[in-house]
Amino acid sequence: MTPAGLVLVVNAGSSSLKFAVFRDLGTGDPEPAVEGQVDGIGSRPRLTARDSFGKSLVDRTLPAGSVTRCEEAIPVAGDWLLESFRGEQVVAVGHRLVHGGPKFVKPTILDAAVLAELETLVPLAPLHLPSSLACVRAIRRWRSDAPQVLCFDTAFHRSHEKVADVYALPIELYERGIRRYGFHGISYEYIASALPFVAPGIAGGRVVVAHLGNGASLCAMRAGRCIDSTMGFSTLGGLVMGTRPGELDAGVVLYLLSSLGMTAGQVEHLLYHDAGLKGLSGLTHDVRSLLASADPRARFALDCFVYRAAKEIGAMAGALGGLDAIVFTAGIGENSPEIRARVVKACGWLGAALDPAANAAKADHARSISPEGCRVPVWVVPTKEDYMIARQTIRTIRRGALEAKPPR
Ligand code: ADP
Repeated sequence: MTPAGLVLVVNAGSSSLKFAVFRDLGTGDPEPAVEGQVDGIGSRPRLTARDSFGKSLVDRTLPAGSVTRCEEAIPVAGDWLLESFRGEQVVAVGHRLVHGGPKFVKPTILDAAVLAELETLVPLAPLHLPSSLACVRAIRRWRSDAPQVLCFDTAFHRSHEKVADVYALPIELYERGIRRYGFHGISYEYIASALPFVAPGIAGGRVVVAHLGNGASLCAMRAGRCIDSTMGFSTLGGLVMGTRPGELDAGVVLYLLSSLGMTAGQVEHLLYHDAGLKGLSGLTHDVRSLLASADPRARFALDCFVYRAAKEIGAMAGALGGLDAIVFTAGIGENSPEIRARVVKACGWLGAALDPAANAAKADHARSISPEGCRVPVWVVPTKEDYMIARQTIRTIRRGALEAKPPR
């Protein structure tokens, strides 16, 4: 048997570094081993990790001030991993990058030219890309021999037709990068790759996938290929989210700046951190807490979330020229029967319906939650973004190695 190599998956955030380790057994189907994070970066850093059965492997509070930036968490998590997997080798590192601009349409092996190109994309995702790129560099310092693969949240959407890719602005601005990029692409690509196996009856059809988490979006797919999505230039567009507003008339931003005298920084903070469910409810961004609350503001915020999700499913069905299935995924989509029921009820006119018992049942595998014979069946498919990154990382490196071989 081929000895297992470890594939490290890195997901850099603003105050946490999430990581996962998979074993590559040579099958192209990586096996999950560990999931962990360093959170509290800049305040009270803490390293936690658990194995694939959920058993805690480490829960260590780190000295205050020892990890003030995401990249400083790389050697902390990395050294713990090497210690825990003594005798095994990290053969590759896969990164989630929120933005790949117009050019990066598939997972890409890191080299100096790629890194330089990505630096130019920082203005497109100033809140996310700098810490991701700092982590890429930190991995080089920590383990310079492991190849790194960059997986982009925008890549899956590059199959949009140009009509779905533009804003109706002077076309020079499109050429300068003002485009509808779309996000959550790693999640959507996983769902697209899973459907032929878990739900072959819908995989070839017109499917709207609803990735409903703190960040939320929809993707319109035809036969697993992305046609359109609700997020555009940034992660602010489309659905009501935990702390982001979704669809917003650009005139509101102009008004905030010119008439209410807010600075660009204040508007940015408002749109990324104080809007969405948090802003509407004045309580929290967290759907589970809002569902449990008796406060009418919580109810209202959820009403807005459901209303917008259902309205945009109609728009995505329009982009597809009809609808054959709806798939729910991510934190809310996978775990909240109530939100699913409310969204599907509002999509009844499209032919979607639920089987209440199937919808209420708890399960962590892909399943239909519609009655038999329903015109637009509804599915829950748990997303596996880390797994997808590990898989793409292994495949990209293998492809790279094959391409590098001289022809015989
Ligand atoms: P992200 O990855 O974008 O940070 P997640 O996909 O983890 O977000 O989703 C987080 C959201 O899922 C939160 O609003 C949380 O309350 C919600 N959620 C998780 N479990 C449940 C549940 N059992 N019922 C309702 N909402 C849930």
